[in-house]
Amino acid sequence: MAARTIRIHREAPAQPPSGAPCNGCGVCCLVETCPAGRMLFRTRQDPCPALLWRGFRYDCGLVATPADFIGWLPAMLAGPAQTLFHRWIAAGKGCDCDIELEH
Ligand code: SF4
Ligand code: SF4
Repeated sequence: MAARTIRIHREAPAQPPSGAPCNGCGVCCLVETCPAGRMLFRTRQDPCPALLWRGFRYDCGLVATPADFIGWLPAMLAGPAQTLFHRWIAAGKGCDCDIELEH
């Protein structure tokens, strides 16, 4: 991948080694919107529209508050949507981001 410049919150946790638990550093989502986000938002642009800054880490809005990003989602499907997106983006799995940052 060609060198890119991304803006990342100064309080964001440092990117962990590949395979370590996700710590919400946000690097992957700041660099490129994932397939779930691309399908929903019809964009690859970065940062992903669903990327949330939580004051100490980034979170995926599709997992945290899907109804905020999918206006047509019935309230009764918010829970299943969270589960679906959680699985889809493999949240909670080890970090599979191999992007190397230069500061
Ligand atoms: S998957 Fe990796 S790069 Fe993406 S937010 Fe989690 S720790 Fe950061
Ligand atoms: S949909 Fe969630 S996991 Fe995918 S790029 Fe956006 S914030 Fe990241």
